[in-house]
Amino acid sequence: MPDTTASPVTVNGRTYRWMDRPLVVVCVDGCEPDYITQALEAGVAPYLRSLCERGTSLLGECVVPSFTNPNNLSIVTGAPPAVHGICGNYFYDTERNEEVMMNDARYLRAETILAQFARAGAKVAVVTAKDKLRALLGHNLRGICFSAEKADRATPAEHGIGDVLDRVGKPLPPVYSADLSEFVFAAGVSILERERPDLMYLSTTDYVQHKHAPGTPQANAFYAMMSGYLAQLDALGASVALTADHGMNAKTDAAGRAQIIFLQDWFDGELGSGKARVILPITDPYVVHHGSLGSFATCYLPGGADAQALGERLAALPGIACVLPREAAAARFELPPDRLGDLVILSQRLFVLGTAPGRHDLSSLDAPLRSHGGESEQAVPLLFNRSLRGVPPGRRLRNFDIFDLALNYCA
Ligand SMILES: [Zn+2]
Repeated sequence: MPDTTASPVTVNGRTYRWMDRPLVVVCVDGCEPDYITQALEAGVAPYLRSLCERGTSLLGECVVPSFTNPNNLSIVTGAPPAVHGICGNYFYDTERNEEVMMNDARYLRAETILAQFARAGAKVAVVTAKDKLRALLGHNLRGICFSAEKADRATPAEHGIGDVLDRVGKPLPPVYSADLSEFVFAAGVSILERERPDLMYLSTTDYVQHKHAPGTPQANAFYAMMSGYLAQLDALGASVALTADHGMNAKTDAAGRAQIIFLQDWFDGELGSGKARVILPITDPYVVHHGSLGSFATCYLPGGADAQALGERLAALPGIACVLPREAAAARFELPPDRLGDLVILSQRLFVLGTAPGRHDLSSLDAPLRSHGGESEQAVPLLFNRSLRGVPPGRRLRNFDIFDLALNYCA
């Protein structure tokens, strides 16, 4: 049992009380709040309904860009990307002059709440759906940390756990499947039963949310599944706290055609071919979901280019929400300026940003495009199986406040 007299733990300038029972924080990838509402309406998620009735349901805002890596890292550090440095799934490393995935812990500039609690003596476990997050979430962490994607390769020496498939009783799930997320929950229940961690972080994948709108049979089936596992975690005596890394919206016209603004083409037309470098931070190795199309982009301009004039012309295009110079974008969205281009571009709710038509393979998209990245996907749920006391009214809540709310305000 955790020692309830253990001292509070301070991480990135915020102090967290020691847990009075095991705390499970769940990040549901791409969980637009309406997914939960519609599952409740359909009557398929009784445990989620009970959270709303006897626990606490709040709305929060995620970090912009509303992408997976920046938000998962904000949640586990309790801080925005300006502090932890992870501002995309993908970025242009100007020091190395190469475009790289932001999966490596060398890009992380802050400690995680998970690692610091483990250092203070807590038993900590992390299960993530996709392996791309494992190194970042597990940075400096002494405890259990593995991905569902590579669950078959987890070893006690490297991941703090072995024989995962056997103990969960499920085969290795395909990476593009709802099963990948189900595996995360099933593993979480097994770990809570056997190892009884003080703190557990479960992070799913948005495969279902990219394909299926709230209230559809496939979406409701996903939330019904999740509701069942969360009920088991609750029955095992855990505090359950749920949020999302970002929301999700259709990015199509009424006919279901993707609304894409091709930025590299536009800058090539303005400045000449290849003079500007457009970076799409949604880019990751799992392109089947979204074809690397999202609502946030950044652009590096050649020396001497008139950033302000270009920004003004670009902002006038249909579907563009705003264009900001680097420093203004860093201030408004709490991002590290040294990892942004000269301009930051956001599209409106029904639009996404691309580079050039030939650089996006949409052939594997088998449903109208749904994606995220902008301010239109910033609303996320904050759900708790306990009442919260003393949260100042009017406080702006973020998804990265979830550890603070769960540990410092749960009655
Ligand atoms: Zn995500």
